[in-house]
Amino acid sequence: MLRTLLLELAKSSRLRRWITSNSATRRMAHRFVPGEDLAPAIEAARACNKAGMSVSLDHLGENVITREDAERARTEYTQALDRIAAEGVDGNVSLKLTHLGLDLGEEFCAEQLRMVTRRAQELGNFVRVDMESSAYTDGTLRMVKLARAESPAVGTVIQAYLYRSEEDIRELLGIGCRIRLVKGAYKEPSRIAFPAKRDVDANFIRLMKTLLQSGIYHALATHDPKMIEAATRFATEQKISQDNFEFQMLYGIRTDLQSSLVRQGYRVRVYIPFGQDWFPYFMRRLAERPANLMFFARNFFRGGAPSA
Ligand SMILES: Cc1cc2nc3c(=O)[nH]c(=O)nc-3n(C[C@H](O)[C@H](O)[C@H](O)COP(=O)(O)OP(=O)(O)OC[C@H]3O[C@@H](n4cnc5c(N)ncnc54)[C@H](O)[C@@H]3O)c2cc1C
Repeated sequence: MLRTLLLELAKSSRLRRWITSNSATRRMAHRFVPGEDLAPAIEAARACNKAGMSVSLDHLGENVITREDAERARTEYTQALDRIAAEGVDGNVSLKLTHLGLDLGEEFCAEQLRMVTRRAQELGNFVRVDMESSAYTDGTLRMVKLARAESPAVGTVIQAYLYRSEEDIRELLGIGCRIRLVKGAYKEPSRIAFPAKRDVDANFIRLMKTLLQSGIYHALATHDPKMIEAATRFATEQKISQDNFEFQMLYGIRTDLQSSLVRQGYRVRVYIPFGQDWFPYFMRRLAERPANLMFFARNFFRGGAPSA
């Protein structure tokens, strides 16, 4: 119920204005988003690298409605790739296709994505295409397959809550595509997605096994100790090397688990979002965990800075 309400509120422009203009909530958002520019994101990336983790930088933004905004987003991504290379950061980029203009037409968006992946390939880097709500699943997969036909420097995300994901994985593995497996962050109807968490978890484990056995380098993006335990156990049983896959977690979430995996010799990548358009991302994080909402409410009414 609460998750549904928060995901609905994420669409409210009034709430967005109120939350993003309030200095207390801006400070609280820093727990999940290190800053509004590339500089603090690079600083956060350096700290992660120092702690033995790679990163993926996400310039926040989605559902742009003008070509100018989409082109600006594309330039910001190529600049982020240049900066990562220039500063010797161990990291790649993650982007959303509606930020690059998917709502403005697939041909336009495909060309935009091509420009970013071309730059990534020139720099020996990689672009991860995030998966958005189910309205965009087909379009995203079409764009990724087109881009993948030209360059290995692109991969995408599959959401375990969707019934279709097993089939999508089969197709993506057929073209050698690298996949990030997640549970899924949007509100989807039971017609297309498992409504019960236990079924999402069971599907995550099923799909994780397919990915780890594929011989392609994939990512398991979760903070759930049960999913992580299942993956490490399966990899050990199947003698899959720790270097053949990575765990991914979000900036500011379960940093204890991130360090513990590094200490055990696993590869960990931290997803670092930055930019001014942090409201929908912030709301999805609140929706994932009621304790985050309590933390938010406590600090907001206290009017102080976040304590954790
Ligand atoms: C690197 C990365 C990239 C992602 N990319 C996408 C994407 O492209 N598309 C998409 O739909 N989703 C994406 N997600 C989000 C994902 O789908 C889930 O919504 C999110 O990861 C929460 O699920 P979970 O697997 O961590 O497990 P859950 O079952 O939700 O949580 C398990 C435990 O993890 C901890 N936890 C989880 N979320 C939080 C939080 N917000 N704050 C504090 N603790 C938390 C808690 O301890 C919780 O008990 C991504 C997630 C990660 C880590």
